[in-house]
Amino acid sequence: MVKRALGVLVFLVAVLVGLLVYSFTPKTLDVEAYKSGASFVPGIKPSAEVSLTLLNTGMMISKELFTYRGGSPGKTYESGMAAALVRHPKGDLLIDAGFGRNVDLHVDRMPALMQWLASYVKEVPAADQMQRAGIDPRSIKQVILTHSHWDHISGLEDFPGVEVLMPPAELEFIRLRRMPGLIDEMIDKLNVRTFNFTEKPYENFSSSYDLFGDGTVVAVPLPGHTDGSLGVFVNLPSGKRFFFTGDLTWSEEGLTLPAERPWLARRLVDYGEEDVRRSIVRVHELLKKYPEMIVVPAHDRRIHESIASLPKYEQ
Ligand SMILES: [Zn+2]
Repeated sequence: MVKRALGVLVFLVAVLVGLLVYSFTPKTLDVEAYKSGASFVPGIKPSAEVSLTLLNTGMMISKELFTYRGGSPGKTYESGMAAALVRHPKGDLLIDAGFGRNVDLHVDRMPALMQWLASYVKEVPAADQMQRAGIDPRSIKQVILTHSHWDHISGLEDFPGVEVLMPPAELEFIRLRRMPGLIDEMIDKLNVRTFNFTEKPYENFSSSYDLFGDGTVVAVPLPGHTDGSLGVFVNLPSGKRFFFTGDLTWSEEGLTLPAERPWLARRLVDYGEEDVRRSIVRVHELLKKYPEMIVVPAHDRRIHESIASLPKYEQ
């Protein structure tokens, strides 16, 4: 009897291990099943002189295996932690805030498993990089968050009083305490301004929010990773276009193949698995239509390094 029970147990464990191994094997998303069916509506021509530079504030080291289905188990993956600085005549803007001066405190408040996984390297926080380059950090009038996880928000405290933009869905998500870390305590001290996406289609998105009303910086919903996750287009005067996609995927391959995160990573970090898939396929369609557009997943260091950083600018 005991022998039989042991046999069943060994069999079950073998099945579970097999399933876990399978969850890391290459598998592209079913583009047909998740297609948006949307037609493309180009935005207005950008009408302000904006420039863009990327502030690399730190990184985390992991294996490519964990970043997307099909990633190599042997390949080290450097996860970049960045803030993007958009210089606009109406006031400067950050897209995410990167690692801030207090990032250690944020990590201390994470659940034990997250802390164990979060081996991170600090670089110079965004506010300090700006100061070193002779830019007063007070020139930042707004920060738009692709979402409010710790690795995107700790830099906010280095810009006291700055307006923090997020859709109501993200604020609600924080209030429901679905976000681990310090954000619960921080949120009431932040100068949050919520905004609603308007019904105005933008490319293959049915709603959008033009931050300055001039076509230079346009946010669109990319729900799934968190309820209020979003993407941000930056359209430069030269015609060069960037699309910041937050943590929809951790690497470019997630969007180009396209491929979602492996099951274990999805369990740990995503809330709406189906929403993530739909959002990924929407961005995949966009990249097929505009192959020259530079897509910037929030943690793809290879792409971050290809973008100008202070004192240089993309124009
Ligand atoms: Zn992140």
